[in-house]
Amino acid sequence: MRYIDPHIHMVSRTTDDYQRMAQAGCVAITEPAFWAGFDRSSPKGFFDYFRQLTEYEPQRAAMFGIRHFTWLCINPKEGDDPGFAREVMSIIPDFLDKQTVLGIGEIGLNKNTKNELIVLEDHIGLAEKHNQLILVHTPHLEDKLKGTRIIMDAIEANASIDPGRVLIDHVEEHTVKEVLDRGFWAGMTLYPDTKCTPQRAADIVEMYGNERIWINSAGDWGISDPLSVPKARIEMKRRGHSAASIEKVSFENPRTFLGQCPRFDVE
Ligand SMILES: [Zn+2]
Repeated sequence: MRYIDPHIHMVSRTTDDYQRMAQAGCVAITEPAFWAGFDRSSPKGFFDYFRQLTEYEPQRAAMFGIRHFTWLCINPKEGDDPGFAREVMSIIPDFLDKQTVLGIGEIGLNKNTKNELIVLEDHIGLAEKHNQLILVHTPHLEDKLKGTRIIMDAIEANASIDPGRVLIDHVEEHTVKEVLDRGFWAGMTLYPDTKCTPQRAADIVEMYGNERIWINSAGDWGISDPLSVPKARIEMKRRGHSAASIEKVSFENPRTFLGQCPRFDVE
């Protein structure tokens, strides 16, 4: 059965991973701009990273029949210096015309600092100005709930941004309900052992339903599993979830949210 992995950092993964994902039914991925495992020494490093995301990764994915789309930003982990961040953000509009760019992301907070919030607000303004979809990273620390609320407040402060065009990722049991109640989409990021496992994702669907929610692997430079979406589908099947419900969280919902950008034309 086909699936979409709407959040995975393929620049950190091998070509073999693309092959295995294709064999497991992956037809499209979206790759948010994030930390590449090291701090870049100058804004020029991001220029090359954005070229990698928009020019080279789509070609590598295409070798296996996988469509590759991307999101652009300076991530919160490197975004604690507003001067540096603004230089990076000044590059972004030149890339927004590229055919595989879906929006601004993954923006958000890492340690919930004042500077991170300033840079987050600048990114929200950038998305508003260019009418872009937004993909949000929420902190993985004990401050997840607090950080998630600060982010949602900052987005809601821009009345022209429709929460239905914003996906809040890395939700967990204690944040998902508020994210959905406030009209945003929610992403569950699956990790092999820590954070949200495939089992916990199945629990969350059983508790909160399958509307406006997706699953993704966030495979990156650390310990992570680029096949966690198909593994979560197997877990849901084992528990008796219907084929339609499994398809909804792993294909239909990502396609509906992402399809708000006409460039995401995956059938
Ligand atoms: Zn990510």
